[in-house]
This record gives sequence, C-alpha cells and structure tokens, in this order.
Amino acid sequence: MLTYLNGPESDPFNYIYASKGWLSDYDPPRPFPFWINLEPTNHCQLNCLFCSRQKSQRAKGYLDLALAEALFDEVAAQNALRLPEVSATAVRFTGWGEPLLHPHIDKLCALAKKRSIPLKLYTNGLNLSPALMDQLIELEVDDLQFSMQGLNEKQYLFNRVGSDYRLLVHNIETISQKRGRLKKPFLSILTSVLASELKSARPDEFTERFLGLVDKVAIDLTNLNFVSDLERVKPHLGDQSKGLRRGLCVDVFLALEVKYDGTIGFCGQDADSLKEHTAGRFPQDRLKEAWLGRAMEAQRDKVGRNLGHDDSPVCRRCYHNTDKYDLFKQNGAKNGGSR
Ligand code: SF4
Repeated sequence: MLTYLNGPESDPFNYIYASKGWLSDYDPPRPFPFWINLEPTNHCQLNCLFCSRQKSQRAKGYLDLALAEALFDEVAAQNALRLPEVSATAVRFTGWGEPLLHPHIDKLCALAKKRSIPLKLYTNGLNLSPALMDQLIELEVDDLQFSMQGLNEKQYLFNRVGSDYRLLVHNIETISQKRGRLKKPFLSILTSVLASELKSARPDEFTERFLGLVDKVAIDLTNLNFVSDLERVKPHLGDQSKGLRRGLCVDVFLALEVKYDGTIGFCGQDADSLKEHTAGRFPQDRLKEAWLGRAMEAQRDKVGRNLGHDDSPVCRRCYHNTDKYDLFKQNGAKNGGSR
C-alpha cells in the first residue's frame, strides 16, 4: 500500500519509477542498474523480531571512505555516459545495519552528492540528531526514508525490540519542520506488518497519522521466513506466508547490492554474503562487470526468467514479487505495491 501526500510526481525518484524498464520491459537488462544499494555498516543498536541479522555470521564492519569514493566514481562516470533515454543511476544507503551508525555518514553523503549522484538514505531514525538533520538538509540528500514496523506504538515496540517510538516520532517531526518550505529531503516512511496485526489496526489510520509530516507512506508485509526457526518468532508465524503465489523476480533487473566490504550481491535479501548469492567483489570487479556478468545473468535465468527459487538458499525464502499485497486488499486498503 503506497500513499503520496502530493502525488507520485513529487517523489525525487519518480524519474526512475516512470522509466522504461522499471517493472516492465526490463529484459534484456539496462546497461547499468537503476539503483546501487550500498551498505554503510552492518552494525545496529536494535534487535528486531524479523531481522536476519539475528542469524547472520558475517563479520561486522563499516564502509571505507576510499572504497565508497571509488564506487561513486564509477556510478558518476556511468551517469555521464548514459544515453538520454536511460535514467541516472541512484545510490541508496541501506543494508543489514543502521546507516546512521557509520561514524562518517555525513562524509559518505557529501562524497556522493559532490558527484551529483541522486541519493536516498534509509534509517531507523533514532540517531538523527538536530546537527545531522542540518547537515543532510544542507547536503541536499534527496530522500530520507524511515523504517518502521507495525501500525501503532504497541506493534512498533513489539517488532522493533529495544527501540524508542517517541524519540523516532519526535525526530520525524523535527526534520519535517527543519526542512521548511523547500521540502528537501523528501521524507518517506516504510512500515511493514504481520498478517495478524492487520486484524487489530488499520493501515489507513497509520497513513493518516504520518502523511503530512512525511511525503510518502508505504506499508508492506513483514517477512519472517528468514528467521522462522527462532523460538521467539515461531508463535507469530501464523498465516504470514501461507498460500503466497510466487512470480518472476524483477529485482535482478533493477538494482545491485554492495555490502560494506565491497561484496556485490544479487539483491538485498542475503544478510550473509553467501557465495551462491554473490556477483563479485568491488573494486576488483567493477559494478558494470558484475551487473552484466555471468553470475548475475545466471541468477536472472534462475529466478527472473524462470521460477527456480527453490534452488537458491535465499530466494526460496523471499517475499518479493509474490501476491502479498492481495492481503491488504482483503483488509480494505487501497493501492497495492511499494517502492
Ligand atoms: S527472488 Fe532471489 S534474487 Fe530475487 S529479490 Fe528474492 S532473494 Fe533476491
């Protein structure tokens, strides 16, 4: 479920969502991805119910500034080369950790913006100090997206173990005021819900609470498949993934994932950098080589052109490209899908 305050045209990334090749006519893949999803760190201060970090064996660390610069150089060079009909590649700071815990997140943003790269930053919103808000506004970060869970304070705190709902809401209110009439960065919220939570709270009420403070609210279904064997998760599995119909994977035609250590993954679903889900290692492998390389093409054959998901340890648990949004329609919400 996706709702805009001022319509999709107000979204700084509408140029991507309206592009040829976004969600349809995407095969053969474009010369370079729409998005590079870049992980500043896999450290996080929370212990969320649904999160694959609980089981991840990957070493913890931070993105090196020199590695980030090299990556931004490649993205900027590709953007300079592009044909008029091919939209600019954007970078999203995301991954398996809280991006604002990177000690130099401001510098990372500055390095990308210095190269005129469209930039989106995901955050749980807790470490967003007033000084950092000012920096992000001054750097002209294009989109700041707050990650939430549930549809109210009780559901949020149940899912986001160790978090502070009121601090988060206070921070959203503060940056919403600080950015003033220019409305930059664009502010968005993505929350996700358990199927059972839809029985006791309404998506429309959540949207009404936050739309106005932010410009876009998206509501998705929480994926528990990656942590379904954990004792604290088992009681909540319920109807969560029963009967979801799988479709071809579009993601492998849209974005490339880069972990803090340069590992290039097929998508963001793998918290562990499994060899079976890896397309290369930056900077030894350039992004373009990985994007058009053999491993990525084999993955497209497996899940983008065929339904070979069960042959992959990651894809078999994935919720993307299923009919999950039908659940919201059953619960009276308008609009399917999120971005
Ligand atoms: S199907 Fe596989 S490649 Fe596609 S988004 Fe899911 S985990 Fe990633």
